[in-house]
Amino acid sequence: MADAIVLYPSPPIGHLVSMLELGKLILTHQPSLVIHVLVATPPYRADSTAPYITSFSATFPSIIFHHLPPVTLSPSLAPRHHETLTFETLRLNNPNVHQTLLSISQNFTVHALIIDFFCTVVRSVASDLNVPAYYFFTSGAGCLASFLYLPTLHKNTDKSFQDMGNTLVEIPGLPPIPAKDLAKPMLDRNDEVYQHFLYMATQLPTSSGIIINTFDQLEPRAIQALTRGLCVPDGSTAPIYCIGPLISSGEGRHGRDEAAHECLTWLDSQPKQSVVFLCFGSLGLFSKNQLHEIAVGLEKSGQRFLWVVRNPPVSDDQNVDITKLTDPDLNSLLPDGFLGRTRERGMIVKSWAPQKAVLSHQSVGGFVSHCGWNSVLEAICSGVPLLAWPLYAEQRLNRVLLVEEMKIALPMVESENGFVSSVEVEKRVRELMECKEGEFVRERVEAMKAAAKEAMSLHGSSCVALSKLIGLWKKK
Ligand code: UDP
Repeated sequence: MADAIVLYPSPPIGHLVSMLELGKLILTHQPSLVIHVLVATPPYRADSTAPYITSFSATFPSIIFHHLPPVTLSPSLAPRHHETLTFETLRLNNPNVHQTLLSISQNFTVHALIIDFFCTVVRSVASDLNVPAYYFFTSGAGCLASFLYLPTLHKNTDKSFQDMGNTLVEIPGLPPIPAKDLAKPMLDRNDEVYQHFLYMATQLPTSSGIIINTFDQLEPRAIQALTRGLCVPDGSTAPIYCIGPLISSGEGRHGRDEAAHECLTWLDSQPKQSVVFLCFGSLGLFSKNQLHEIAVGLEKSGQRFLWVVRNPPVSDDQNVDITKLTDPDLNSLLPDGFLGRTRERGMIVKSWAPQKAVLSHQSVGGFVSHCGWNSVLEAICSGVPLLAWPLYAEQRLNRVLLVEEMKIALPMVESENGFVSSVEVEKRVRELMECKEGEFVRERVEAMKAAAKEAMSLHGSSCVALSKLIGLWKKK
């Protein structure tokens, strides 16, 4: 029977894309392995990842997709966080996964089930079927350290982190983290998503291994704390495999030809490293007031810019479907005359830009980012320094790590209510693009770009870690 690995990503696009990149990487190292991917359909925004999967399968027909049947969530869950909905969707999918793994096993020897941390609930299925379960952690080692240490933090306080404000929290391998900057689902201990995270944190260490999308030189302290078991003081930790940076090779998420986007032609006509790029992930949205303030700050900064602008959210629901974004009416959203006054030095892209191609364009010299991990890795691989403006998930933690630990970003500092003034935008964009602070982080990120390349090369740390892992599967 042929040897196989089964990947089980969680539905959000960022997690899916990284997991599929892992599948491709495994195949590059061991082409004889057959990669199966289990796709759970979320009951909300059900078709949002479909164009990406279609485009990916057309390019990589050797990776086999299994679409699990849709599940029905209880209507009482509807208003919850999308993280809670994701956990529940995956729980309901356990019988489907069980069935699919059984049918795959009829023709293949399954050496590993590699899961996203949201899929922790499937561990029972893996152990019933005697399949070793590995995690693929789609954020960095620093974030993993904070997750693994959550049960210890939980024991040591009875307060919610969101009520502890700027109190510094000590986590092995990390600089002191202001409590309010921990990952969003960890902030309120009375929320059920917190319970899911707490449970997940106790399960991660008992897996067969944790594969992380990072590399040794980027996060040496956090990686050392993880490998020495410091983040799980009460037990043993699973082996850690840092195999990154894995970034999307750019199959269009909309199924469009992103390589021909007009913003790339515009960048061709701009001087080297002169343009600041502003883009806020797959879910980032701003209020009309905030968009206005960014525009004023950008205009006053005098810098060239390429800015991805989306419509403001219609409700507090940040669950954006990237395939259905309606293009914004720029004239009604931005200050009077802004477009005309900045025509010579600025370009606005509506809703979605080919970020990876933009970052690797030589005219781009800075990146105002929401600090999503894929964006961070893409910036590193292109040697572009960041201005860190976190919005959701674990991005506030990433800002602390990017600024204080990796030193590849400057911080954007918001007010108490999360608003960023035009004065702050102007000041920080100038710092990034034309001051010594920007020069320092540029040098650091260029060094990390070289280190990333080295890590992925033959005999580099990430390549060695992956070979070790694949070697285990072959021996079984
Ligand atoms: N992205 C893009 N164009 C956009 C916005 C996002 O290509 O206009 C891509 C970006 O290159 C990255 C991913 O979407 O690969 C966002 O992932 P990240 O982990 O940074 O943030 P998330 O969307 O998961 O919050």
